[in-house]
Amino acid sequence: MLPLLQEVAADSVAAATEPAASFLRDSIIQTTYLAASVMFILGLKSLTKPDSARRGMQQAAIGMLLAVIGTLLNQHIVTYQWILIGLVVGAIAGYPMAMKVPMTAMPQFIAFSHAFGAIAATLVGVVEYRELRAEGHLTSGLAGALGFEVLFGALTVTGSFMAFGKLQELITGRPITFKGQNFFNILLMAVAVGSFGFLIYQPTTAWAFYTVVGLALFLGISMVLPIGGGDMPVVISLLNSYAGLAAAATGFAIGNNVLIIAGALEGAGGFILSVMMSKAMNRSFGNVIFGAFGAPPAAAGAKGPAKEPKTISTEDAAMQLAYAGSVVVIPGYGMAVAQAQHICRELADLVEANGGSVKYAIHPVAGRMPGHLNVILAEAGIDYGALMTDVDDANRVLKDADIAIIVGGNDIVNPDAENDKSSPLFGMPIFRPWTAKVTYVIKRGKGVGFSGVENPLFTLESTRMIYGDAKGALGTLVKEIKALDEGH
Ligand code: NAP
Repeated sequence: MLPLLQEVAADSVAAATEPAASFLRDSIIQTTYLAASVMFILGLKSLTKPDSARRGMQQAAIGMLLAVIGTLLNQHIVTYQWILIGLVVGAIAGYPMAMKVPMTAMPQFIAFSHAFGAIAATLVGVVEYRELRAEGHLTSGLAGALGFEVLFGALTVTGSFMAFGKLQELITGRPITFKGQNFFNILLMAVAVGSFGFLIYQPTTAWAFYTVVGLALFLGISMVLPIGGGDMPVVISLLNSYAGLAAAATGFAIGNNVLIIAGALEGAGGFILSVMMSKAMNRSFGNVIFGAFGAPPAAAGAKGPAKEPKTISTEDAAMQLAYAGSVVVIPGYGMAVAQAQHICRELADLVEANGGSVKYAIHPVAGRMPGHLNVILAEAGIDYGALMTDVDDANRVLKDADIAIIVGGNDIVNPDAENDKSSPLFGMPIFRPWTAKVTYVIKRGKGVGFSGVENPLFTLESTRMIYGDAKGALGTLVKEIKALDEGH
């Protein structure tokens, strides 16, 4: 009798403590999610300035760690075995990838990782739909959230893989177009949205749900096909925004607050970034998505025989640099390719040691991703105070400069952006190095920039070309200036 009474007493204690324990666990999870969300917002805020950007990444990473910890405390987790396997496989694959990828390959790396995030969101959507349907718990609201999730998730999966393939040159980076393509894509989108609408009306109609998934997968491919490789960073940040929206919808479907907040932040952040990038290139969103930019120019050579650019020897350029009062460095994509930032800083140090001043004009779309050159120059320890990120401010400084030196840049200094209405660059705000006393351009040869058009700056009277790889050419200039300094 006594053992039986003890058992009954133990059961009632357990029954009384269970809701309390569950309440405590839930409170800890929600507090952790709240802390994670605050860290995400702080991270985004810190990312808006180069000097706090590194801290921003760390804050966001702490936020993500908190979100993962909170999720692992969830009592609905049946077994930790598969989570552990995923964690180990992800860490083994992700860590070396992130450490080894060069800065110039960052856009495709981001596209690649987006694709996996989107696969996760799509799979969660499919599994959740199947379970809710089998349990008979599907409402129009839930079907709407899940349909939204798989529409944007699946589109992001194939779109991101396509963007990766184009940037990694696994497929051609040129736009692939065919007649009626835009109409075809709009039709596909209309059928997908129609099926989505039907799903909300009839939540248990499985064919409508899977039609949305299938069409979205197809749309990701067909929408990215006509976009040139150079426009991929805009597309990637747009897909980033879609992945965020898919994550937020997942949050609604499975009742997870941190997913809703993080997804909404990513959705809004990605969209704003895409708009800013399009603006800095003076292109409309529609032009990026439907414009097939990057195709060979139809009327190349229509401007008559090209003038030959004048060159300058590194000895003469070094002599001028050694005695220059003010120098403005304009770095472009070629500096990132050549990884010439450290030697560029050495050159600047020499000019400053001789009494000159050096500033850096950073164009919003220099390189191949937002902030590309800021990151590269920060890596070389260049003072943030020396960076000019506003095109108008930089142009004012250029007017009084002795030397403007363009390192691996092209489109960001193309005067046709101001003078030639037929140029694809027309309207893009550009630097005006020709207003300085003399312009030096370091590039390997006569290669065009991302837009594929010629640059009349190179044949202006005050421009001198220094042909060579940016790192090598700057290295030679450094040696020459040192030799001159030692000669005194
Ligand atoms: P760019 O117009 O692409 O020109 C880069 C130049 O660097 C080329 O003309 C190339 O000429 C030279 N170059 C390449 N490798 C080099 C090396 N190792 N050493 C020296 N020079 C080298 O670059 P940009 O002036 O930075 O302009 C960026 C372009 O990308 C803009 O048109 C922008 O709209 C576009 N874009 C940017 C973003 C973004 O977020 N930043 C996104 C999408 C598109 P040679 O072959 O003769 O050396």
